[in-house]
Amino acid sequence: RIEIQNVTKRFGSLLAVDDVSLEIPHGSYCCLLGPSGCGKTTILRMIAGHETPTSGAITIGGQDVGGLPPVRRGTALMFQSYALFPHLTVRDNVAFNLKMRGVAKEERASRADEMLALVHMTPFADRMPAQLSGGQQQRVALARALITNPRVLLLDEPLSALDEFLRLKMRSELKRLQADLGITFIHVTHTQPEAIALADLVVVMNQGIIEQAASARDVYAFPRSPYVARFMAGHN
Ligand code: ATP
Repeated sequence: RIEIQNVTKRFGSLLAVDDVSLEIPHGSYCCLLGPSGCGKTTILRMIAGHETPTSGAITIGGQDVGGLPPVRRGTALMFQSYALFPHLTVRDNVAFNLKMRGVAKEERASRADEMLALVHMTPFADRMPAQLSGGQQQRVALARALITNPRVLLLDEPLSALDEFLRLKMRSELKRLQADLGITFIHVTHTQPEAIALADLVVVMNQGIIEQAASARDVYAFPRSPYVARFMAGHN
């Protein structure tokens, strides 16, 4: 599991994350839900190791990851703008993170093909990113993130660039992948139905603090504050 213990993050005088504590069970689908600017992305980036907490600790599987660089944390990050390298084929894009880790060429290619099969993109392995639709590019970005066998996949607004149809399709795809892989997904979103549809654990945030962390059913049926009730009702 992931434990976030009394984590605070300041940017100058701005308090982006304010003494947050949270436990995320291993193998769960967790959504960080809240309006723009409430600190969701900052939490994700601290778990990934791209941002250092001002105070507090983060442990993954019992290990304090505070001193570890991003590549040693067993996490992988997928951004909203899942930018693929335009000059590399789909297969080479997916294999890229293994190249960075010094894995031999044949193994890179075979692992990349495995990942492409996982996201149903096998027929596109030799194409260039510009020849893919937005949804297809996103599948490739997922494969690229998953190739390092992370124990935690961090997704920052992964569906927001997609049209309604693709969004619903990718939503169920993410849920399937998470269940199949059995790893932890932490998914940042400002869209309440997305969190309800996907999450085992919904974490509702407001200006750097957690208002409530519970099952989708409980945050909906038993909101712990008027803020959560309003947010879940879609009146935010
Ligand atoms: P969004 O959905 O808009 O990304 P968010 O909930 O993910 O919002 P964060 O991106 O975590 O929010 O930002 C929280 C606060 O910290 C915001 O006020 C933001 O402007 C500020 N912030 C984030 N990163 C930095 C940074 N590198 N330098 C200064 N301020 C920052």
